[in-house]
Amino acid sequence: MSKKNKSKADTFFSCIEKNFDKATRFIPPIEKGLLEQIKSCNAVYRMHFPVKIGKKIKVIEAYRVQHSHHKLPCKGGIRYSLKVNQDEVMTLAALMTYKCAIVDVPFGGAKGGIKIDPQTISVENIEKITRRYTSELIKKNFIGPGIDVPAPDYGSGEREMSWIFDTFLSLIPGEVDALACVTGKPLSQGGVRGRKEATGLGVFYGIRELCRIKEDMLSLGLDVGLDGKKVIIQGLGNVGYHAATFFHEAGAIIVALAEREGAIYNKKGLNVSNVILHLKNTGSILNFPGSKNIENTEKALELECDILIPSALENVIHKNNANRIKAKIIGEAANGPVTPDADEILGKMGVIVVPDIYLNAGGVTVSYFEWLKNLSHVRYGRMEKRFSENVNSELLQVIETICRKKILTEEKKMILRGPREIDLVRSGLEDTMISGFHKIRDIKKSSGIENMRTAAFVLAIKKIIDSYEKLGIFP
Ligand code: GLU
Repeated sequence: MSKKNKSKADTFFSCIEKNFDKATRFIPPIEKGLLEQIKSCNAVYRMHFPVKIGKKIKVIEAYRVQHSHHKLPCKGGIRYSLKVNQDEVMTLAALMTYKCAIVDVPFGGAKGGIKIDPQTISVENIEKITRRYTSELIKKNFIGPGIDVPAPDYGSGEREMSWIFDTFLSLIPGEVDALACVTGKPLSQGGVRGRKEATGLGVFYGIRELCRIKEDMLSLGLDVGLDGKKVIIQGLGNVGYHAATFFHEAGAIIVALAEREGAIYNKKGLNVSNVILHLKNTGSILNFPGSKNIENTEKALELECDILIPSALENVIHKNNANRIKAKIIGEAANGPVTPDADEILGKMGVIVVPDIYLNAGGVTVSYFEWLKNLSHVRYGRMEKRFSENVNSELLQVIETICRKKILTEEKKMILRGPREIDLVRSGLEDTMISGFHKIRDIKKSSGIENMRTAAFVLAIKKIIDSYEKLGIFP
């Protein structure tokens, strides 16, 4: 293999291409050109812009990649990290395309990246960089409610999204749908209730659904349900923290939590909110009372457990550590945490890997709800809450009359309650994750596919082909 080819084969993007190619064996024959078009990145915008930091001018490297325009707008987060590079942003954009197709969210995939370490830069400078990045996107028509809609990702959150919105609004005055130019905003600026925890909650719904299936649990030698299952979460950012909380509340035992500085372990279980309190007070999860420190954080992935949830960055499970993994289920809360080599090893070991392109789609699903809310200019539940309460009240009166029995006030309150925004968002997310899981599982079973990732890719590719066919035009 030539040097040039070798380096291409090693890229993160080529891993996704491998997964894609594997899946094409299970779809009806189709023109090769169409598959090539689906696979490739439609537009890569690499920028360098100057920002004055202190008395010096610093040149910032940043990206926005639009992987697919088969549906518009494009959608995907912006990563703030020193590790950002073109290959990574292209891959993450591609994953967004497949993710959106799987959960039936009408977007093409995109991703952004700003090569900075937000932990070592002041808030004022992060704001300057974010605002300048947004104006660069506007200049090139790379942002807008119907064009491309960013969101939070690793290293960014509500704060950054509100700066993006504000910059957009001030540079495009009078845009009535300006709120829909970015999602993951704070509630006070057009955000939707339930967005912050959406990815972690989606991960929880997806794994809970798998654990409800008797046949699959039997094949792993596990009991049905989450109660008492031993779980390890790697990464305590927005996704890992919320996933850990939901698993803990459902009766799972969080035996280990891993962060950059190391991991903590307690086979009887860790109380997640107390660990977070300890982290806030001491700046580290290490030395949490009653737990054992594990200095080498990577070793935490290899501990005894039923479910392992990598929730931080890509490529943490690779060919050199895959055969030491003890988990029976791996839930990919992060994007791309398992390399294709590791995937094969884990498959042979009988581990079920629930793939990122399905499992962490809760974030973009609720982003979709936020975008719809912004475009409709009305809060969820506003039109129907009172109406439902009145209908429920009349229904209860009829029941009381027929049964000649009074319903307890507390019970009444619960039944009467009309849907609030958070109720609608959460039920929409739950339904999306449950139906997505079964669509993938059905494809896997009916086509005799060996793993969930390939089945998920099959589902995504079929959906994208379908929308290209509906478009019907190729110049
Ligand atoms: N960054 C998140 C992801 O990777 C969310 C994207 C979005 O909401 O658009 O799925």
